Amino acid sequence: MTPPHYQMYIDGAWVDSSTTVDVTNPASDALVATVAHGNADDADRAVAAALRAHRDGEWRNTPPEERAKVMTRWVEILNERMDEYVDLHVAENGVTRRQAMAFHVGYAISHLQYFADLAATYEFSRSGPMLGYPTVAAGLVRREPFGVVAGIVPWNFPMLLAVWKFGPALAAGNTIVLKPDEKTPLTLLEMARAAHDAGVPAGVFNVVTGPGEVVGARLAAHPDVRKVAFTGSTAVGRTITELSAANIKKVTLELGGKGANIILPDADMSQAVDAALFAFCLYQGQACESGTRLLLPESLHDEFVARLVERAADIRVGDPDDFDTDMGPIISAEQRQRIEHYVELGKKEGATLVYGGTRLTGEGFDAGNWFGPTIFTDVDNSMTIAQEEVFGPVLVVIKYRTVDEAIEIANDSEYGLSAGVWSEDIDAALDVAAQIESGTVWINDWHMVNALYPFGGYKQSGNGRELGPHALDEYTEEKFIHVDLARRIESKVYDLVVPEGD
Ligand code: NAD
Repeated sequence: MTPPHYQMYIDGAWVDSSTTVDVTNPASDALVATVAHGNADDADRAVAAALRAHRDGEWRNTPPEERAKVMTRWVEILNERMDEYVDLHVAENGVTRRQAMAFHVGYAISHLQYFADLAATYEFSRSGPMLGYPTVAAGLVRREPFGVVAGIVPWNFPMLLAVWKFGPALAAGNTIVLKPDEKTPLTLLEMARAAHDAGVPAGVFNVVTGPGEVVGARLAAHPDVRKVAFTGSTAVGRTITELSAANIKKVTLELGGKGANIILPDADMSQAVDAALFAFCLYQGQACESGTRLLLPESLHDEFVARLVERAADIRVGDPDDFDTDMGPIISAEQRQRIEHYVELGKKEGATLVYGGTRLTGEGFDAGNWFGPTIFTDVDNSMTIAQEEVFGPVLVVIKYRTVDEAIEIANDSEYGLSAGVWSEDIDAALDVAAQIESGTVWINDWHMVNALYPFGGYKQSGNGRELGPHALDEYTEEKFIHVDLARRIESKVYDLVVPEGD
């Protein structure tokens, strides 16, 4: 059977390009689909459509409760087609069926519903009295959409991370142009189909495919784009900040991480061991908020590591389509090479490889990009493998003597996206959590991102926050309107102009 061909979605219509790109299955190298390979002109066309839709005002002037209804219809369609999106995720980004259902697709749909509900309840305007004002006047504050927003998303959670951008953007009345990663454009294009079927007006939601350095860069630099929301590497985040500076765009960045998982001496070890594996192995460690630095007290270190290695061996790596599989393939051959580079570096730097560290071979691993859980001990936090993001299933174990030292190690990082604390004493864990420079801290858990709470990074892990009740703040301009109710302008003019004869 010939694999399907996908076009871009611009101004409510499907648009092709003169060249195409292959989307391949990272578990088998099989061709999943061909996709239009967009360019800067396509980005311009999509921005022009989004600007026209913004100026027409159909979407932004639709009452928020009505926008919420359209978005809820969209969610209903997504729910009906959920199996299709799970299949596509497994095929294009190699996530296991189980994780795709729970996280990649499950969260994406429920989070879109959250933003639809938020549209209906968000405070788009408020009024109040004036402080110390001599005449009778009222203040009015409106929150208005920016206009055209660009959303640039990576390959690891292609549907979810797009929802985090277009959900609040559209709830607030903006229009958007989205650019998926070249390796994983299919689920987002299918979301466009659902948007179309739900009745989202033409030009309000656009998807342009193509290379980041061409399409993404054009969107970031485009003079008619008022805001860019980006998830990806810190290096590209820096480029986007530079490109967007030309017209002082608002920028939201969700970047890399090197999450410290601090096990306090009183932690329940059996729970904490499994959780440490969960923290760095979910989606093969290709999640920005993974727990990739495990900080162990000297008192627990040896037994903890022994148990960790024992349990790592129980992780089933293999066909992501099999419901029993725990870990699937690495997204690409390049990404696996990057992981291998860091493993070699770790060995050179003097860390001890206690588990994994090599490509998986043999039955089931002939095609695709395979790399299993990998654990280093004897790691010093100054080593490159403790400082740089590997973006694969590689854990570094660092020993600490006192809790203060553990906090210092956790904070000794350019990143600050996620962290964890394990303890039976919640007060003690909360005390540690308060001292960690990180946008999220999980106590006795990991990966539990929640739509009701903000997500984002300290330091070089990003700018701004996604999710939570204030998510729409990041997609609106605040306007203050002063209303003089007494119409006694002459009393103020006299403050400026000294009347004749005085
Ligand atoms: P990446 O930065 O290479 O790419 C992300 C997106 O940016 C892709 O759509 C890509 O096409 C586009 N892009 C690339 N170069 C560009 C340019 N010059 N101008 C504009 N757009 C460009 O990242 P990746 O390899 O796709 O993802 C891995 C990285 O993303 C990791 O470092 C990871 O930590 C980070 N990430 C962070 C989060 C988060 O929420 N903080 C989530 C997922 C991934």
